[in-house]
Amino acid sequence: MAKRRAIANTQVKDNEVERLIKKSIREMKKNTDIKDKDIMRKEEMKIRKQIEYENSFAGVFNSFKFFGDTAEDEKRKRIVVETLLKIPYKVRKKTIDEVLFISMSTAGVTFKFEGSVNLRKKDFKQKGNIYHGRIELHFIILNFRRCRKDRKMDVTAHEIAHFILGHHLKKNINRGIIEKEAEDLAVKWGFKRGYKDYNF
Ligand SMILES: [Zn+2]
Repeated sequence: MAKRRAIANTQVKDNEVERLIKKSIREMKKNTDIKDKDIMRKEEMKIRKQIEYENSFAGVFNSFKFFGDTAEDEKRKRIVVETLLKIPYKVRKKTIDEVLFISMSTAGVTFKFEGSVNLRKKDFKQKGNIYHGRIELHFIILNFRRCRKDRKMDVTAHEIAHFILGHHLKKNINRGIIEKEAEDLAVKWGFKRGYKDYNF
């Protein structure tokens, strides 16, 4: 547990999150008439704590959309959280908001994007105000059956890269080109290459 907390703490210190905290504090100051310095400092701490939590292991674990509730799924959920914490803030935010991760233990599907789906607000618990009646979600289907234990985060990052690059929305795609694009982006985020070795 201590180790996990250490990982989360180094992640929340990443520059993008720090910039977001400072920007949010600036905006709060612009829109407030608080004069008292101590109260102001408390308000700043509140913003900092909230944003750091949202970008910590527990915060991501509790906010991203994941389907699957066996003990094995729980392990996979943790792998996805670790992966999300390693990728840049904006990518993490978009993925948390727009992707539903589905853990498949028995089916033969190995990582695949399918179109998108409209869900009603009551279909998911979610904080914030991203729901406007309907929300479009994208699927990442996780199946690590043929995947080496130490490569699960790399594979997850590769799939997130496909999503960020919009590959699941494109028609007439060249498989070779999109695989390379996804690999390059995952590598840019600090993950290892080699997806095709165990999937294609
Ligand atoms: Zn791929």
